[in-house]
Amino acid sequence: MKRPLLNRRLDGLGTTIFAEMSALAQRTGAINLGQGFPDTDGPEEIREAAVRALRDGRGNQYPPGPGVPELREAVAAHQARFYGTCFDPDTEVLVTAGATEAVAASMLALLEPGDEVIAFEPYYDSYTACIAMAGARHVPLPLRAPDFRPDLDALRDALTPRTRLLLLNSPHNPTGTVLTRAEASAVAELAVAHDLLVVTDEVYEHLVFEGAHHPLISFPGMRERTVSISSAGKTFSFTGWKVGWVTGSAALVSAVRTAKQYLTFVSSGPFQHAVAEALRLPGTHFSALREDLRRKKEILSAGLEEAGFTVYRPQGTYFVTADIGPLGEEDDVTFCLRLPERCGVVAVPHSVFYDDPGTGRGLVRFAFCKQDGVLREATERLKTLRD
Ligand SMILES: *Cc1c(COP(=O)(O)O)cnc(C)c1O
Repeated sequence: MKRPLLNRRLDGLGTTIFAEMSALAQRTGAINLGQGFPDTDGPEEIREAAVRALRDGRGNQYPPGPGVPELREAVAAHQARFYGTCFDPDTEVLVTAGATEAVAASMLALLEPGDEVIAFEPYYDSYTACIAMAGARHVPLPLRAPDFRPDLDALRDALTPRTRLLLLNSPHNPTGTVLTRAEASAVAELAVAHDLLVVTDEVYEHLVFEGAHHPLISFPGMRERTVSISSAGKTFSFTGWKVGWVTGSAALVSAVRTAKQYLTFVSSGPFQHAVAEALRLPGTHFSALREDLRRKKEILSAGLEEAGFTVYRPQGTYFVTADIGPLGEEDDVTFCLRLPERCGVVAVPHSVFYDDPGTGRGLVRFAFCKQDGVLREATERLKTLRD
């Protein structure tokens, strides 16, 4: 066989860095601050709701293609409660296998080969893969240290006649940038002026420590051009359940559903019922989660500073980016690969999130969605790096 097995679109995508680093953590027994999953499960009553659904036989067989009605209604009620946006649960809400499938289905549904997609760089790694699978081209919009703000002139300059879509993530993984109202408004104006589609990944919508989350779909002219994506994983600390959703106009949701039905068709039946209950939790759940993570952000950030890193505190998400330069280190990949044996901690090198790996050289991402004691132990271990 002369032809390579992997098709050209997927060439170079390899294994996701998160799987690789989690495997390294498991092999070495190191503390895993690499992959972003909490080390404690979400609310007991929501776990019980999943057990009840399973026992009562709700969702054990294929749920309806667009998602169970209870969940679609709960998603619509959640959007109205937090953002004042109204969606018809029957035509404007679609349940997906996590935000990951929602992004994939959106790219496959909305892009033609040769289209250009502008996304913040550093990128969440599945974006690059999904854009490639759709045959489109991704165009970076840089977020750079120390403040990681988007440059709106650079966005304007990146637009070409082939630009079809903006794929925007705020709160942003890995930098923790949260778009201000003014930034979101300016992006929305550009999208309207250039007649672009916008897909927003809002999985960290409830993890904002500074400012507020401003969904792009709520700005003038955006309702008919925006596919808004979120999921239960980060908001309720059940990343294994893989329940996500899409909200948008009936035309856009229908397009995304067309692609989605040939990916997983449906998923997570009993969990859909449990997430419907989770979305209706009182406001205190959401504020407690945020305050909990704000404290964890401080524990990790302060610990990293004491260990000698330059720390860029995030405005949202559960990641903090740190510069290894002050430790006399240059290469983030080498640093992260050696970190488990040097001090028993796993982190993710930033350079995997850039077109040109050199751009992220020297930056490392740590996840702080872990128990306080685990974060403290990790920072104690990191402090030994300077010895
Ligand atoms: C974790 C994460 C996802 C994946 O969400 P799932 O619901 O688990 O598929 C998508 N986007 C970003 C930015 C994430 O950090």
